[in-house]
Amino acid sequence: MSPPFQKGYCSSPPAQHRNMKVLTTRGAAAVVCILIVVLSTGCTTDQQQAPAQSDGTPDESSYATVLDAGTLGARLDEYPVATLSAAEESDLLYMQEEEKLARDVYGVFSDTWNMQVFKNIGKAEQTHMDSVTVLIKRYGLENPSASATTGGVFAYPELQELYDDLVKRGARSPEDALRAAILVEETDIVDLRDAMSRTENGGDIRYVYDNLIRGGSENHLRAFVRNLEQQGESYAPVVLTQADYDRIVSGSVRPGGFT
Ligand code: ZN
Ligand code: ZN
Repeated sequence: MSPPFQKGYCSSPPAQHRNMKVLTTRGAAAVVCILIVVLSTGCTTDQQQAPAQSDGTPDESSYATVLDAGTLGARLDEYPVATLSAAEESDLLYMQEEEKLARDVYGVFSDTWNMQVFKNIGKAEQTHMDSVTVLIKRYGLENPSASATTGGVFAYPELQELYDDLVKRGARSPEDALRAAILVEETDIVDLRDAMSRTENGGDIRYVYDNLIRGGSENHLRAFVRNLEQQGESYAPVVLTQADYDRIVSGSVRPGGFT
């Protein structure tokens, strides 16, 4: 049995602004993040079931829920370009790199274990990263990942540490890789919610984060959990509360486009 995942990976609010030249470590405990309210109320009207394959298992590609970053720019034109707070700016840069982390981790797992779920969701993560990049460009921010285009290299030390740890864990077995992937999604959901809760001015930013959570990470979490359960294994949430985790896992897959 694997040791429990280390807590404390989710991002803490940048109470004072993080200067990009001095990347401070986010060390907040997960419990702080959990305390920040659960925003989603769960919409049922526009959900759809994942189509089943001939053997009855869900089609994993339907969980990949690729977001179309290409059309996002036009959609964002519906929102005014806001004057962002320092927290909104730094959160954008951080979330962009956290999406990169997901993409890079699943890329490694896909290469190691040759599992379709990592391939598909890795592609979706690229679109998540691209979506945040659209916002970063919209606000003319300096992107820390521009200098870290290499896979597995991160500007934020805590993301580098998390990446290194996840890759190590996922190298043990396919089941450990799935567990590491679920932790990525748990962390992503909580960090996106936290960033949303700090969004004061950018309606466009809130819109993107919301889609990344409900049309992206929640679907991904379900997909990885389902894959793990198919191996006869179970998972206990590390970052999310049990109730929140149960709500997400029992929910239906959502369409992945920007809605
Ligand atoms: Zn993502
Ligand atoms: Zn994801």
